[in-house]
Amino acid sequence: MDFSDKKEEIRRAADIVQVIGQYVQLKKQGQNYIGLCPFHSEKTPSFTVSQEKQIYHCFGCGRGGDIFNFWMEYHNLTFPQALKDLARQYNVSLPEYNNSPGNRKKSDLIEFLFEINELAGRYFHDVLIKRPVGKPGRDYFSERKLSQDTISKFRLGYAVNSWDGLVTFLERKDIPLDKAAKAGLIVSNTTNGYYDRFRGRIIFPIFNLNHQIIGFGGRVLDNSLPKYLNSPDTPLYHKGRYLYGLDSAYKDVRTKGFSIIVEGYMDLLALRQHGVTNVVATLGTALTSDQVRRLKSYAKKVIVLFDSDDAGKQAALKSFPLFLNEDLSAKVLVLPGGEDPDSFINKYGITKFDELLGNSIPIFDFYLDQALANEEPGVDGRIRLIKDVLPIFMELEDRTAKFLYIHLFSEKTGIDEGEIWEELRLDERKLKKGSGLNEFKDRLVSVLDTKKYGSDLQFLKLLAHYPEKIDNFRDQQWELIVSDKNIVKIIKVLMEKFPFKGSLYEVEEFLDDPITREQLRVALISNPYDKDIVDQAVGEFLNKISKMRISQSISRARAEGNIEAINHLIKEKQGLDLRNKRN
Ligand SMILES: [Zn+2]
Repeated sequence: MDFSDKKEEIRRAADIVQVIGQYVQLKKQGQNYIGLCPFHSEKTPSFTVSQEKQIYHCFGCGRGGDIFNFWMEYHNLTFPQALKDLARQYNVSLPEYNNSPGNRKKSDLIEFLFEINELAGRYFHDVLIKRPVGKPGRDYFSERKLSQDTISKFRLGYAVNSWDGLVTFLERKDIPLDKAAKAGLIVSNTTNGYYDRFRGRIIFPIFNLNHQIIGFGGRVLDNSLPKYLNSPDTPLYHKGRYLYGLDSAYKDVRTKGFSIIVEGYMDLLALRQHGVTNVVATLGTALTSDQVRRLKSYAKKVIVLFDSDDAGKQAALKSFPLFLNEDLSAKVLVLPGGEDPDSFINKYGITKFDELLGNSIPIFDFYLDQALANEEPGVDGRIRLIKDVLPIFMELEDRTAKFLYIHLFSEKTGIDEGEIWEELRLDERKLKKGSGLNEFKDRLVSVLDTKKYGSDLQFLKLLAHYPEKIDNFRDQQWELIVSDKNIVKIIKVLMEKFPFKGSLYEVEEFLDDPITREQLRVALISNPYDKDIVDQAVGEFLNKISKMRISQSISRARAEGNIEAINHLIKEKQGLDLRNKRN
């Protein structure tokens, strides 16, 4: 089915700045909007959105496209799903198309997995709230003081303690079990059968920002191990990339400007139930740089609220370089008396909790205090301290931050600043050997190599921003003035497709490789010519073409020894130069 009309309709109804702005903080700069790229790690914005052209492009990692590309990449979805989502958001009706399980192609796998997860989510939830076998789950939640409202809001569930609870359910729903295994819900055994991955656990569905279930977390009811079991990596779920609860928190996080990070599902649920809306959880594993980067799109500051046990403190310590490197200001709050967030808020309530938040300390101070507390005084202790902390300083990419932290470190420990720098330089030299060139710089240079392709890019910009001028060049040998083969390809497609049916960006679909697509985006997103010099530019390019054509003819005539033709051509060229001067 061809969706180009629908795509165009949605593109016209939607505004790319608003769509992307939900997930990336954008700032107006000149004609465009810029922000920190959600797809790669950066501290200075190179992610650019053009409202006029309705496209985005990141000069850092080269990713870009229109709203559909963004939606697919950001939410890890297929095109049909992105189309459905955006159509719903902007009230564009789509024709129904047959999508029954038997009718699927491989490319629909992702969508099918979402459906299987949805079904399984409903099954677990049903067991928890309705079935007699769900009683252990209900007992657990009531003991932990979770309300019905929280249970249904987060669609919590219970997996019965049996090998085939979900398997039987899915079979009854005609779901191919190999697909359910791909979703990570069931596991194949040696005899070609399948068994439930989650057994005797309470179930926390994990949602993407689009409120679809991408995976599940399961927690035991007693003290058996493993305490937490999450979905394995699947086409939908990747360990370390998501934060539990971000889907229902990100708007509040942005409004409040900061977010609270906890470790466990139950911590998050308890805080939410008490009205703390800007809390997210790490899904029971160590915080990752992917998670920090995601959060950075919404929060300027975070408070890390880990358990006061040693494991919690270790986790907080490990997160320190992540925050530094993503330039996200972080504080740490250690709860008093061995409490965890769940037990604390249930015991003391929200007012006390808010008070406590005010006592959080900068993560660097926390880090140093911990490190100092663990070391005995004396030379040995200090040497060990340097060895512990240096790797973290090494990971800092920002030199100013490095200076600042080394200064603070020296102040707190009494270790001479010069000594630290000396150690650091020694270690850095060791590391240097392995590191490659700055990828970002390379890319920028190759895309914007104006010396080599300056005029090519200018010509492409002219046609891309003022397509009504395309016809001026149609019968000209314009290839003579374009040396970049990719730009020749793009211009050919522009000429072939003009006048465009929809937005000019549609043309991208007819370019078959990522480099030309990127070049078209760069041309479209860079500043256009001033309107008043467009005609002048057209004239100059036409002139350049004529000159190139004559020069080529002269060389040819010279090779043939045709003096008459040479004279004629030279006169023609002089006439051209003269006209140029008069203009
Ligand atoms: Zn990027």
